[in-house]
Amino acid sequence: MEKIRAIKGTHDILPEEMFKWYHMEDTVRQLCSRFGFEEIRFPVFEYTDLFARGVGDTTDVVQKEMYTFEDKGGRRMALRPEGTAGVVRSVLEHSLLTGVLPLKLFYLITCYRNENPQAGRYREFHQFGTEVFGSSDPKMDAEVISLAVSLIRAVGLKHFSVHLNSIGCPTCRSRYNEALKEFLRERKDALCHTCQDRLERNPMRVLDCKSPECQKLVEGAPVLRDFLCEECREHFESLQETLRAMGIDFVLNDKIVRGLDYYTKTVFEIKSEHLGAQSTICGGGRYDGLVEQLGGKPTPAIGFAAGLERLLMCIEAEQAFLPQPQRPQLFVAYLGEEANQFASKLIYQLRGEGISCQRDYMGRSLKAQMKYADKLSAEFTMVLGDDELERGQAALRRMADGQEFPVRLDEVAQQLKQIAQ
Ligand code: ATP
Ligand code: MG
Repeated sequence: MEKIRAIKGTHDILPEEMFKWYHMEDTVRQLCSRFGFEEIRFPVFEYTDLFARGVGDTTDVVQKEMYTFEDKGGRRMALRPEGTAGVVRSVLEHSLLTGVLPLKLFYLITCYRNENPQAGRYREFHQFGTEVFGSSDPKMDAEVISLAVSLIRAVGLKHFSVHLNSIGCPTCRSRYNEALKEFLRERKDALCHTCQDRLERNPMRVLDCKSPECQKLVEGAPVLRDFLCEECREHFESLQETLRAMGIDFVLNDKIVRGLDYYTKTVFEIKSEHLGAQSTICGGGRYDGLVEQLGGKPTPAIGFAAGLERLLMCIEAEQAFLPQPQRPQLFVAYLGEEANQFASKLIYQLRGEGISCQRDYMGRSLKAQMKYADKLSAEFTMVLGDDELERGQAALRRMADGQEFPVRLDEVAQQLKQIAQ
């Protein structure tokens, strides 16, 4: 029979890779707890309307990349292409905004986008994201950016940069869009087809286009920062002052406009030197209009999402610190039927006392059991035979240097903990 293969653009994460994912996820959870962010989980699929309204129905994500389907009742649903819309829906549904503010949330999720698979770009991928509701203080923007930077530093990366921009509020933007349209109309014929289409509907998306020709054409285009209203300008300046005070380096980059419609004021991306075309590890910004747009009271908000596959690619490219894969503390080898039985009892008991241990289940000879222990990288081994059972005593052998420690069979856990100190 022909084997069924995984869907293009999806990836299995095999057991041998798992410690890297634990490393990223543990780092995320530790940092978020230190920063006072709480975890939220929400469904992989939602009504399509949520994303159309939340992400914006003229965006690439919604127009081209979303996996949509109808259920048996004819309801239109979609796999989540990102996390923000689902979080806002959940926060409103459970009235979380009536509690203590700011509300600081994070999530670790899979996302789905029907994109052309290539390095760093997949159809199922993982995101770490944060969303903060209730504060319009630029110091909140700085905290969110500092969390993203802290994560990237905590996993050991050095070669990254923070790109910062402000895309203002709808008022600044409508003045800007007119100026941008005027600029682009003069160059319309040279734009790619998608951008010709974007020009009238959503001209800022052209700045975001990945085609090198369009990138070249938009050089010299009007810059949104020159169109900011008083309030947006002050907000942006105050954020920069705070980041400088915190010692967080950034560059101003007026090409950063973000692919989703809901952003206002602050937008930022963290880019790596290692990822080539897919250089953005993390992107985010303020979205002060979204909560209202999804049926809540006007509520300022800010967040970001980092792609974990891209983060991992950077960790590997920089050969940044990765913890060693988990290894058993003890391997219990046996010789004879009685010891075989006793080994099961002993490891069950030791596991109960917090020791990670393993034994053989393949009927291996003693010699083969020791080879197996080596393969598992066990820290200690112990051989049980009739003699050891009779005396109630055995030897713990430290595999690194071959040193042996005598141990009573009813004190193995204490002894292991003592040697480890
Ligand atoms: P890009 O410009 O690379 O398409 P984006 O602006 O579409 O990114 P966001 O929606 O901001 O990306 O998502 C946040 C992060 O999620 C990105 O910075 C990236 O690290 C990651 N990401 C986005 N799309 C994919 C994908 N298809 N495969 C893997 N990671 C992705
Ligand atoms: Mg994209």
